[in-house]
Amino acid sequence: MKYFLHIAIFLLINNPGYSQHLPVGRTSGNSGTGGNIDVKHHRFEWNIAPTTSKRISGSVTTYFETTQSGVNKITFDLNKASFNNGSLIVKYHGINCTTSFPASGNTDILTITLPVTLGNGKLDSVTIFYNGVPPAVNGQAEGCQQKSTAGYNLFYTLSESYEDKDWWPCKADMQDKIDSLTFIITTPAAYRPAANGVLVSEVTSGSNKIYTFKHKYPIASYLVAVACTQYNVYNRGTVNIGGTNMPVEYYISKGRTPTSGQLATMDACKQELVEFSNLFGDYPFKNEKYGMYEFAWGGGMEHQTFSAMGWGSFTNAGVIAHELMHQWFGDKVTMATWHHLWLAEGFASYGEVLAGEKVPSTGLDPVSIRGNLKTDANNSAERGYGCIIPQANIENSNALWESQYGNSVYNRGGMVVSMLRTLLGDEKFFQACRNYRTSPVLVYACDPA
Ligand SMILES: [Zn+2]
Repeated sequence: MKYFLHIAIFLLINNPGYSQHLPVGRTSGNSGTGGNIDVKHHRFEWNIAPTTSKRISGSVTTYFETTQSGVNKITFDLNKASFNNGSLIVKYHGINCTTSFPASGNTDILTITLPVTLGNGKLDSVTIFYNGVPPAVNGQAEGCQQKSTAGYNLFYTLSESYEDKDWWPCKADMQDKIDSLTFIITTPAAYRPAANGVLVSEVTSGSNKIYTFKHKYPIASYLVAVACTQYNVYNRGTVNIGGTNMPVEYYISKGRTPTSGQLATMDACKQELVEFSNLFGDYPFKNEKYGMYEFAWGGGMEHQTFSAMGWGSFTNAGVIAHELMHQWFGDKVTMATWHHLWLAEGFASYGEVLAGEKVPSTGLDPVSIRGNLKTDANNSAERGYGCIIPQANIENSNALWESQYGNSVYNRGGMVVSMLRTLLGDEKFFQACRNYRTSPVLVYACDPA
């Protein structure tokens, strides 16, 4: 994620000097849901109509494998206030299941009681039908919003870090990546959805259209995204990544007409795809696509295969490079917990330096960008904040993104990457990065917890 306007709000807290024990186990996310299952696939079937108020309705079918014996309850993260409204129905092979949410504490945990008890290693599925209005923005917690942008209603999602539950029932966990996704989105015919992966069909159904997207790479729940507005699609040809001609495309609101100069700024991502592939190994999702789509938040977000960009970011060379770099650092390999956010943001910030070095047409000045990283990393507001974020600051999105940690992981993380390059020299540094991005135990998975 990259703020177009840096967040100036931070909490002044005592310098903690943390040597924090990290309490999160390898098999669950911060909320601890889904600890007895390995999520394999989600099939999303959603109705999204930006013509009316912000609302999401439909179903999520989760295909899973049990990881222990005696499984008769499964838990998912889901916003209780928005969706525990009488239209929440869970079916196990057509049989209605009992559902409940906690009365206190973290109330956004849906417990499903199955009509059977499953043994270990059992492949199975449940379908959650729901209908509701996701919550309003709360500070840094965006989740799912709808805004009028360039004269058109734009529905969009931004889950990082804990707002996936605000629009779909998920196992919010970077360590159990979802192996693949299917999106089936019904929307009024004038509208068009954006989602991760490849658009495989587009069918007219009365006054609606039904769009199906498939994504066949492992993905963390916070990187799952949809948006919907009256998009115009800009197909920008293909880029050759290791012998695969991969399409590059932009979805831009119908209310805008990008100039040729603006399109040229966006198209720098095509050269960066080649340069970053040379440095870090092939673009991780080359069998699908890389694209950028417009959303209504004032920054960029590295949704897997399809980065979401506010209009100002869509034409900002630094943000374009940053979100692309995340496809290797944050998406292909993801931090195991939010404590280690710097592994994504530090490398992505350094990606802006590299884009300036390798693709001069971006106009990015690598010396000044690195200098700014160093100045910020050294300033009095950030000095004393390590790269690792303590537990108290990862409890929710506001604690995470409105604390100084939310800024320091970019700058201090970026300077750690820069320091490693200086110490190792380019040959060893980039070989080490390639080894890191292609390690069999990390690839399409997560960093060690
Ligand atoms: Zn970022």
